[in-house]
Parts: sequence; C-alpha cells; structure tokens
Amino acid sequence: MAYLLAIDQGTTSSRVTLYTERGEPLGSAGRPLTQHFPQPGWVEHDPEEIWLGVVECLREVLGAASLSLAEVAGIGITNQRETTVLWERSTGRPLHRAIVWQDRRTASRTAALREAGHEALVRKKTGLLLDPYFSASKLGWLLDELPGVRERALRGEICFGTVDSWLIYRLTGGRSLVTDLSNASRTLLFNIQTLSWDDELLELFGVPRSLLPEVLPSTACFGCTDPALFGAEVPITGVAGDQQAALFGQGCHQPGLAKVTYGTGAFVVLNCGTCSEPGDGVLTTIAWQLPGEPVCYALEGSIFIAGAAVQWLVEGLGLLKSPSEVEALARSVPDSGGVYFVPALSGLGTPYWDPQARGVIAGLTRGSSAGHLARAALEAIAFQTVDAIRAMERSSGLVLRELRADGGAAANNLLLELQADFLNAPVLRPRSTEGTSLGAALLAGIGAGVVDPARAGADWEMDREFRPQLAQRERERLYRGWGRAVRLSLGWEEEAG
Ligand code: ADP
Repeated sequence: MAYLLAIDQGTTSSRVTLYTERGEPLGSAGRPLTQHFPQPGWVEHDPEEIWLGVVECLREVLGAASLSLAEVAGIGITNQRETTVLWERSTGRPLHRAIVWQDRRTASRTAALREAGHEALVRKKTGLLLDPYFSASKLGWLLDELPGVRERALRGEICFGTVDSWLIYRLTGGRSLVTDLSNASRTLLFNIQTLSWDDELLELFGVPRSLLPEVLPSTACFGCTDPALFGAEVPITGVAGDQQAALFGQGCHQPGLAKVTYGTGAFVVLNCGTCSEPGDGVLTTIAWQLPGEPVCYALEGSIFIAGAAVQWLVEGLGLLKSPSEVEALARSVPDSGGVYFVPALSGLGTPYWDPQARGVIAGLTRGSSAGHLARAALEAIAFQTVDAIRAMERSSGLVLRELRADGGAAANNLLLELQADFLNAPVLRPRSTEGTSLGAALLAGIGAGVVDPARAGADWEMDREFRPQLAQRERERLYRGWGRAVRLSLGWEEEAG
C-alpha cells in the first residue's frame, strides 16, 4: 500500500489529507486562514501563516495515522491561484503580505493597459483578460511600491511565486523555485501556446525574468522535502491550481466534461482538450500535462464571490451563525419573493469582467425577510454559474449535458436544486466533495508512479443527482430579473465616484 499526501491551500483555509494510492482518504487536518482587508477592495494573507498552517496540518495528519513522512510515496499540492507572494531568496522571508486573487487594488493598472490597446495581445498569448484578478499587475504593484525591491529583483535576490511555489520553496528548504503549468497559466505572464514565460508580457507588466520560478508539467518532480524540517526526503510529485485539480479529481478527463467548485468563489471549468480562443469573457487555461501526453486545456468561467456571499450574511450582516445555517433559513420561504442579491463584492468576473461592479440587493418590499435574502444569496451563486456556462456554450459551440459540483457550498442541497433548475440540466454531486484535494493526490500518485493515469478517474462515484424541476417560463422570468439586477451593479464605483 502506497500513501499520498495532498496539501490543499485554499483561500479561507489550508487542509492536508492522507490518501491511499486508490484515492481513499484516511484522515485530514485543517487550519483556517486569517483574511486581511487593509483597505476597501484589498485582500491579503500572511505567507508565514499559510506556511505554518500547512506544516501543522502535515504533522497532525501524519501523527494521527502513526505514519512517518518517509512512508509517503509523493506529495501533491493544490492551491488558491493567482495569489502573489514575493520573498527574499537567501532567507525565504516574505517581503509583503500575499496579495490575494480577489484583491482589486491594481484595477487602474489593468484598465490603463486595456485602454492602451494591449488586451488582444494578452488574450491571444495567455487566454486571459486584462483584469486585476491575475498575478501580473499585483506583482507589478509590489515591485513599484516596496522600496528597493525592483533593484534587488534585478540582482536576482528576490523570488516571485504563486502559493504553490511559496510552499514548495519552504518545503524543500529553499532548493526549488518552481511552479506547474496550470498555475503559471494564471499569471498573465505565461504564453500558453509556447509554454514559456513571455518576454513581451514581462515587459508590459515590468517584471524581470530573474524573479520567476521554473515551470514544470503537472506530475514532474518539483523537489524533495528538506530532511532538516521533516526528517525525510519525500518528493513533491503533483502540482495544480485548485480549479484544475478539482477538474482532475472530478474525473473530467475527457473533453466536454465540466465541473463547478463552489468555494469562496465559484469556478466553472470545462475540459476542452486542445487550445482554443473563446469569446464572451471566457478564459482559456492550462488544465494539466500528464506524462507522455500533450497539454490538456480547459475553458473557465470565474465567479469571484459565491460561498463568500453566504459568509457575508454571517460576518457582514450577522444574519446567521455559520454558513451551514443558510439552507434552513432559505428554505423557510418558498421563493426569494422577487429579491435579488448580486454579490459583486469584489467586482464581477465571467462574462462581465467589471472590477467597478459593486454588490446590489434589489427588489425589496415590506414583506422581504432574512429568509428571502438568504435564498437570494443561494440563487445568486446559481445564476452567476448559469451566466458563466451560457457564455462558455456560446463561445465554444458545446452544450453542457451535466455539471459536476463540489467545494464547501456543494453540501447545500437547495443550492444544487436551484442550480439544476436555473441551468436546466442535471447537477451531479460526487461522493467526495473534496475533488480539489483528491485531484492533487492523484496527480502526485501519477508523478510518483503509484497511480495509473488511465485509471485515475475510474473511481469517481456519485452521491446524488439533482434534476431540473422548474418550468421554462418561470426559469426565464427569474433569469430576466437577475439580468436586470446585474445591470444595476455594473460600473457602480465609477459612477458613484
Ligand atoms: P475555499 O476553498 O475557497 O476556502 P471551501 O470550499 O472551503 O472554500 O468553501 C467555503 C465556502 O463555502 C465559504 O465561503 C462558505 O461560506 C461556503 N459554505 C460552506 N458551507 C455552506 C453551505 N452549507 N451553504 C452555502 N455555503 C456554504
């Protein structure tokens, strides 16, 4: 029996899970992660807290299983993507808090580049858009704002990485500055056709090449754990950004299969096999590259606020004690009573891509209640997912036959019922809603030679299928209302000054 360890470093928490080579979970440990909001629209994490949380989880999981790290065949890492970390090469000391993917502080930078006519080039090379969501403008901000850092970067003293690179650097005792294709494809600096960092893009964002990690396929050897830290040299053999890992973990290995992961944000990812250039604000991204195979590409719709809308009901409004209570509150009413909640709390992603959008609650009457708002929050997650899928369908010509759903909020049955209704297609919840972590473990298993790539998705099992129940007219009526509410939220900050 071979063991695999998956590190899942998410936006709100870090989790480590021990798996068998068949992908059966044996135990896991988690740590929450502090969210820092130093200014409106800014979101930061402490890289040291990320690192310490992961180390504690690793120790806890191994301790509970009475295993030593030496008995693990390979470690897989999956991570919140785009989040940007800068650290000192010699000491591994972070130079600033990590700038989180949700952070909008660089909206004016990407807007200026768009106005200067650079979007077509960026889109062609990266499959992405000029938006502050991706790493490049965050990195540019750090290089400009931190005194002396650009000069030090040019001297090769500074490292940039997404969270995968940061963790690998620390896990290997500073021996590996690497990332994988899927994470690199989210930086706006990586050419997804030539599979290399792109000089023209580096120049556009003012990023020196000396900062950058080496980019490896998904199942390469990314380095070995530092024996001084963990007492054993165990290889890190699988790395993928969280959404790509979830696509893999959900068994969407063939073109045409798609999943949505409802976490802080929601991300719809469709395996499209080869590289294409979609329209309608849909992204092309690298899914993975397996041994001896060409790169597999995916289309993606990015929704910035999904589960976080429920979190806002908890923390921002004090309406609930925890997100798990939202289903009961939303079920206390038969429908949302005409209330729409557009949770554009950090702009809107696919298909609108409007960093100036702000949240809107519309359609209130004297009869509106907390139940209506809770239901509207869940409906908003489902409506945003429909927006993204319709855009993907329009731009690819594919029609989605079913959607696999995972992530923290996929535990919510009402959300999945609403999703099936609004999408008018079955939504399938797998037995394991930890697809992200499983995907990382399977990739690590392939990299370590203990998982057969051809069998990696074979054990995917369904827990429950949610079938659409809503009449077409009602579906269309509700969706029109949603569209109207979205229009209110667009460009809000710009207009409000
Ligand atoms: P991430 O990986 O982005 O940190 P998770 O997959 O752990 O996110 O999911 C956490 C998110 O899911 C939180 O935003 C939380 O509000 C939401 N969530 C958790 N449980 C529920 C639930 N039962 N209904 C709706 N949302 C939920």
